[in-house]
Amino acid sequence: MPSDIEIAQAANPEPIAGVAARLGIPEEDLVPYGRDKAKVDIGVLREGGGHRAKLVLVTAINPTPAGEGKTTTTIGLADAMRRLGTNAVVALREPSLGPVFGIKGGAAGGGYAQVVPMEDINLHFTGDFHAIGAANNLLAAMVDNHIKQGNELGIDPRRITWRRCVDMNDRQLRNVVDGLGGVADGMPRQDGFDITVASEVMAVLCLSSSITDLKERLARIVVGYTFDREPVRAGDLHAQGAMCALLKDALMPNLVQTLEGTPAFVHGGPFANIAHGCNSVMATRMAMHYGDVAITEAGFGADLGAEKFCDITCRMGGFAPDAVVVVATVRALKYNGGQPKADLATEDLGALAQGMPNLLRHVSNMRDVYGLPCVVAVNRFPTDTEAELALVEEACRKEGVDVRLSEVWAKGGEGGLELAREVLRLVGEPNDFDYAYPSGTPVRRAVEAVARRVYRADGVDFTPQALRQLAELERNGFGNLPVCIAKTQYSFTDDQARLGAPEGFRITVREVKVDAGAGFAVVLTGAIMTMPGLPRHPAAESIDVDETGRITGLF
Ligand code: ADP
Ligand code: MG
Repeated sequence: MPSDIEIAQAANPEPIAGVAARLGIPEEDLVPYGRDKAKVDIGVLREGGGHRAKLVLVTAINPTPAGEGKTTTTIGLADAMRRLGTNAVVALREPSLGPVFGIKGGAAGGGYAQVVPMEDINLHFTGDFHAIGAANNLLAAMVDNHIKQGNELGIDPRRITWRRCVDMNDRQLRNVVDGLGGVADGMPRQDGFDITVASEVMAVLCLSSSITDLKERLARIVVGYTFDREPVRAGDLHAQGAMCALLKDALMPNLVQTLEGTPAFVHGGPFANIAHGCNSVMATRMAMHYGDVAITEAGFGADLGAEKFCDITCRMGGFAPDAVVVVATVRALKYNGGQPKADLATEDLGALAQGMPNLLRHVSNMRDVYGLPCVVAVNRFPTDTEAELALVEEACRKEGVDVRLSEVWAKGGEGGLELAREVLRLVGEPNDFDYAYPSGTPVRRAVEAVARRVYRADGVDFTPQALRQLAELERNGFGNLPVCIAKTQYSFTDDQARLGAPEGFRITVREVKVDAGAGFAVVLTGAIMTMPGLPRHPAAESIDVDETGRITGLF
């Protein structure tokens, strides 16, 4: 089979204006970025649009390090629905340059289920992330300038929490000392950079529902604390207007299409650990406005991705899923069943059966905790054997779990017809959607609810530091925000080595901090990387472009 980029470059996509016209987007709302990309004005959402379609969430079991094909399945499922005559629209995150140049590669799907132009989408696209970086760094400059100009607010330079950012894996910038030189050059202090997708501005942009909402959220961002330990907000520095001005175009969802011409809004890309890991609320609502079925993906496995999608994104976005697709692969099931990473291409029915409880727990969470109809999509890899695929199907049926084979990677929409028919049936079923904890729940109780109900932990332990931070958070009026829990994506527990469906464990919370602009409390259960580094042989070494502008080496 040809590589992803070969398949993408062989495509002959319709001009984006045609895709937009098919969707019914008025010409005056389309802001073309060349022939194949456009932004779409958010006016229709201001007027109350964006709640028409059925919403499908694509999530997954606990993955292997390579990813299990959520994006691929999201795209292929939408293509399959189109083939069945349904007006399906995709909403996905934008890729970050960090992973593109690092190990993971791009994030535009795979095989015959991709969004195009994949080179542009993977390589700074319509510039949204640069705009987010600029807004983030404007605020950083204004914080330091405020101190330099006399520090009227009494900002404690040792308690500045706002970091600079850049969309690159650059560990060299993780910790820096800046403001060096002399009296004219600022106040020396320890500082650091995060990758742009880990910045709060990214989360803020993705959760905003209008320019006004964006500006209000930006104003609420806490940049640090005064010598009296009072929070200092971006609004205290009068930064929100200029930040918002930098972001006005970035707030508009980007429209592209799949290889089969299905419209796709690709917009926003918050990290799935420190942030909530879903595409923008605007993109999902845009897909729900113009489509009859909107299909979106949430990062990592369902314990992290679907939990945050339901408990944060849906709560703030004012929408709810109608059905869930849980992507499973034979490889990841075997990995969860104890097969070593290097042997995942070899048949092992024993490990496969051992890994099944991981899948069943995720399915049960979707059905019993969130009250949603759910189907398992087995994303078929070339290395899967017939016996393995049969085992997964049988094990699901035995437990009363709906399951369909998906071959969209190899066959495009044609390979997802059965899955599409089943999802279309499920979105028509009544559901009892509910959050894992009600709005306004105290942070500590919210973490416990997720840990007990979703992870199936026996309880949660807060370290003394976390308890101190929690008390401070409450004192500052942030004690009842939804929680954004950062945890390893490989396990239901906070230990990435405990695979499958572990029981008899507790979760340890080490740190709690507030993202007041985003509107959630970040709860860290382990060390979280907010500025990744490049590997020994970064993907960047293989990427090239020829005289005609043709790019190679992306994957
Ligand atoms: P996720 O969204 O879960 O991280 P992706 O859809 O991005 O996963 O897929 C991760 C990688 O796996 C991509 O490079 C994709 O091309 C590849 N992939 C996905 N599904 C298949 C499949 N069925 N067979 C082979 N490779 C696949
Ligand atoms: Mg993905």
